[in-house]
Amino acid sequence: MKTLLTESELQTGVSQMAAAITASSTGRQLTIIGVLTGSVVLLADLIRQIDQPMRVGVIQASSYRGATTERGELVINSALMIDISGRDVLLVDDIFDTGHTLAKVVAKLQDLGPASIRSAVLLRKTGRQEVDYQPDFTAFSIPDEFVVGYGLDYEDMYRNLPYLAALEPADLAKHASQAGAF
Ligand code: 5GP
Ligand code: MG
Repeated sequence: MKTLLTESELQTGVSQMAAAITASSTGRQLTIIGVLTGSVVLLADLIRQIDQPMRVGVIQASSYRGATTERGELVINSALMIDISGRDVLLVDDIFDTGHTLAKVVAKLQDLGPASIRSAVLLRKTGRQEVDYQPDFTAFSIPDEFVVGYGLDYEDMYRNLPYLAALEPADLAKHASQAGAF
């Protein structure tokens, strides 16, 4: 694996994003919604650094992928959602790639009648955007490589890595040979 962002680089970027979010505060309470599962590490770090009263909830969005590049249909599960009607929402996700996921989750949340919705992402891949929607806060822009760690997975593994790494062909071969080794 090739490290793209070290643990300390990640912490610096997340702290700066938290400061920008705090600085943009209108004084009203925030409702932070993390997109499961990729946002869990960012969510935990970010909410502890935003100096403002907040409520925290989650929503699940999954697009079934086989290979690293192809993407299946997006399924949004709002069964775990807290009430957001009349609230100022900050949606938190791991990565903005084509943007379809975040745009669809925002559209889904709009139906629930929030006062406002903004979004914050850890990563944004340059040159990949396919939607008009833009995240309001981005910690890092990265090149178009498949990355894992700090919440991001490959087949539900590697989310626990404290750094961000790009998976290389040799890693995929190793992963395949170890699949199901429990
Ligand atoms: P989008 O809909 O913006 O194209 O893709 C967003 C979703 O695809 C993310 O929430 C994430 O689940 C997945 N994704 C996109 N790029 C990567 C990547 O490089 N690594 C991982 N682990 N997931 C990615
Ligand atoms: Mg995701």
